[in-house]
Parts: sequence; C-alpha cells; structure tokens
Amino acid sequence: MAEPALSETDIDATDLAVRLRAVTKVYDTGITALGPLDLDVAKGEFVSLLGPSGCGKSTALRLIAGLAAPSGGRVEVSHRASKADGRHPIGFVFQEPTLMPWASVRENVRLPLKLAHVTDDDAGRRIDQALAQVGLAEFAGAYPRELSGGMKMRVSLARALVTDPDILLLDEPFAALDEITRFRLNNDLLDLWRALHKTIIFVTHSVFESVYLSQRVIVMTARPGRIFSEFGIMTSEPRGEEFRTSAEYAAHCREVSAALAPSYSGQRT
Ligand code: ADP
Ligand code: MG
Repeated sequence: MAEPALSETDIDATDLAVRLRAVTKVYDTGITALGPLDLDVAKGEFVSLLGPSGCGKSTALRLIAGLAAPSGGRVEVSHRASKADGRHPIGFVFQEPTLMPWASVRENVRLPLKLAHVTDDDAGRRIDQALAQVGLAEFAGAYPRELSGGMKMRVSLARALVTDPDILLLDEPFAALDEITRFRLNNDLLDLWRALHKTIIFVTHSVFESVYLSQRVIVMTARPGRIFSEFGIMTSEPRGEEFRTSAEYAAHCREVSAALAPSYSGQRT
C-alpha cells in the first residue's frame, strides 16, 4: 500500500530542517540530473554536498529551495519562520553574486524585503543588521563595481540573511575567489553559523572546503547524483585557522578524497 503523504507540519514536529525521500529530477531534455536521493538535515546542522561538476548539486539545492519541482519523490522543508513579517524559511546564495549593478549595496540587500512588502522602517533596521553581520556596515552606499569579488559575495550573503531564514543554501559561493579571500570567508561563515544557529547546506566541489566547514560531508556520485558515502567531521569547536593545518584535518581530507574518486564511477572501493 502507498505510504500516506506527509504534510508540512509533520516535518515541523521533528528536529529536521530538510527531508528528501526518493527525490529525482529529469529535465525536459531527457537528462536525469538527480537521484533517487534521500537526505535528512537536522536543524542547526552544517552539511556539505560534495561532488564532481554536473552531478546534480545545484539541482538538489534548487529543489530544496522550491525553485524547481522534483520529477519524483518528496521534498520537505521545515517552515518555522512566518512569511507574514517578511521572514523566509530559506536564503539562497548563488555561485555568482548576481547583484544589480545600478543599485547600491543597501538597495541590493533590500530586494527580498521589497518583494515581501516589508515597511521601510523595519527594512532599514534589518538591512543594517545584515550588513553588519557580513562586515559591510561601512559600504552600504557603495556600488557593486566598487567592490572586490569577496565583498560582492558578502553582499550576496547579506541579501540571503536579511529575511532571517532558518535555512541557508549556498551553491559554490566562494569557488571564484582567490584562496586568501576564500579562507577568510570560510571563517566568517563559520562565525555566522555559530552566532545565528542557522541550518546550512553548502555545495562545493572542494574536498578541503567541505571538510573545513561542515559537521557532515556528503559525497555524491556522478550524474544522476545520489549519495555515495558520508563522513562526520567531529572536531573540537570552534574551528579556526589552526584546524586547517592540523593532522586531523589532513586525515579527514584524505578519507573524503578517497571516497570522491570512486564516486565518479559509482563503484565502492
Ligand atoms: P552541478 O551543480 O553538480 O554541477 P547541475 O545540477 O547544475 O550539476 O546539473 C546536473 C545535470 O543536469 C547536468 O548534466 C546539467 O547539464 C543538467 N541541467 C542542469 N540544469 C538544467 C536545465 N535547466 N535543463 C536541462 N538540463 C539541466
Ligand atoms: Mg552547480
């Protein structure tokens, strides 16, 4: 007999932020991009999806965000945040900062609040807070062309934080940045996660970045992306630069790398 469909309240009664069951995605072109994928992400967890280019990572995030519909299976997201006060359950950060070039930093960050019809007074306070959270309080009046790549990404992060989502989805946000900037943003993202208690699902193709950031690394197979294996990265907190050069970090990276290579062919070693 078919399993009864679960309603949104069912996931809200659990400690899960996201629950995927047998989720698949077939695009109009006939390409099966994803799945079947089963994934549970606990509230407050920091999880990375790691896999080769084209394996369906962005597709998985878009399905979780509700930007695309699954072809099969069930996508459930907890909805603690009320939309009524301009909050949104999910914030999305894309690989490209996708800022409006003609608008100031402040106006770029305002966009989701405008779409949610938040009043100007309330919006102003929230924008200030989001800019302070990403270290850009001084740059509210600047324009995207005046900013470095790292700062543009901070604006994009502020725009995702301004609606105070419970869940942050980040799609290879730092892939285009130089290493020093990427390391700094990695640390700042960890600080934000610790301070704000958000659930974070972070997509990357970097073993090193996934191990540095997450509590759990999920290694995906080549397309259609499924879960190949997963690793808990349990370390003493808070992590900082000393973790990056530790023997423990190197050991985790070796272990995850060893899983990533066979994941391409889908064969376990
Ligand atoms: P990743 O983010 O891991 O690189 P994607 O989720 O972007 O992978 O893509 C997975 C597969 O689905 C790729 O083969 C890609 O070409 C295909 N794909 C992605 N988006 C679309 C789309 N809108 N229409 C058709 N095919 C798509
Ligand atoms: Mg992608």
